[in-house]
Amino acid sequence: MDFLRPTTWAEALAAKAERPDAVPIQGGTDVMVEINMDVRRPAALLDLNRVAELREWAMVDGVWRVGAAVPYTTVIEELGGPLPGLAQAARTVGSPQIRNRGSVGGNLGAASPAGDSHPPLLAAEAVVEVESRGRGVRMIPAADFYLGVKRNALEPDELIRAVHVRPATGPQYFSKVGTRNAMVIAVCSFAVALHPHERRVGTGIGSAAPTPRRAFEAEELLARELDWTAPLDPALARRFGELCAAAAAPIDDVRGTAAYRVHAVGVLARRTLTWAWNDHLGRRAA
Ligand SMILES: Cc1cc2nc3c(=O)[nH]c(=O)nc-3n(C[C@H](O)[C@H](O)[C@H](O)COP(=O)(O)OP(=O)(O)OC[C@H]3O[C@@H](n4cnc5c(N)ncnc54)[C@H](O)[C@@H]3O)c2cc1C
Repeated sequence: MDFLRPTTWAEALAAKAERPDAVPIQGGTDVMVEINMDVRRPAALLDLNRVAELREWAMVDGVWRVGAAVPYTTVIEELGGPLPGLAQAARTVGSPQIRNRGSVGGNLGAASPAGDSHPPLLAAEAVVEVESRGRGVRMIPAADFYLGVKRNALEPDELIRAVHVRPATGPQYFSKVGTRNAMVIAVCSFAVALHPHERRVGTGIGSAAPTPRRAFEAEELLARELDWTAPLDPALARRFGELCAAAAAPIDDVRGTAAYRVHAVGVLARRTLTWAWNDHLGRRAA
């Protein structure tokens, strides 16, 4: 197995252009497990750990640009204020060791339907910045990034550079069902993001379909019917939960049945919306 070690982003793109078969490795918390378990044996590994650019995060034109290598611990400690949904999800990932090594870029690269970054990125309408040496930068909305189970929109010569997320303008929540409180892959998960200035609510469903996905009909319902100055109508919250559940398309597997997941997505949707709504009204009253 060849081991490629670029030290700059330009070198990394050149290496990927020359060796499209090379598997990128960042924190290695997915890649090393797969190699150890003999799930795959790549001809080459492209180690991105020396590429300092990938570890940077900054506000660019009013949007947070979070480098692909930024680990969960940094998301929690440095970005919890502006990106509360993503930080909440990051707190539920693995253990402290996994959160120190594992990155949002790695979660996107793996594109597991159960990855915890995906629902908050969808709810916040994040955009994934990818790049190749030959064709330059592509900006891919999160909703278009996930193509199938563990399949994403990356071309073989492309790498993930960063994810762009607008700072929250309203409350955001993430919730995950698992068989215990730590070190657990989601049975299903849900994220909600309130955008009060636009009178819109974003959603993200995890681990309940072949890809992470938004519940578009549920979002449209709230855009039409929410009264942003009033307490949340329980019937509307219930209908929102039903439409989110209807947007799920889960399977039975070792972690849960499809029927349970559909039910749980509805509960999580209603619950996270209620939490977010109570915060929203509290902020208005303050
Ligand atoms: C014990 C344990 C617990 C875990 N718990 C959770 C959990 O609770 N929730 C959760 O979501 N995940 C969990 N994971 C999975 C894993 O930690 C996450 O998916 C993490 O985000 C992967 O990040 P990484 O930097 O380690 O990625 P890596 O393992 O380095 O890479 C993952 C994938 O992304 C690709 N990749 C990495 N960087 C790039 C890039 N810049 N451009 C293109 N492709 C790239 C790799 O080729 C690979 O396909 C767990 C893993 C372990 C071992």
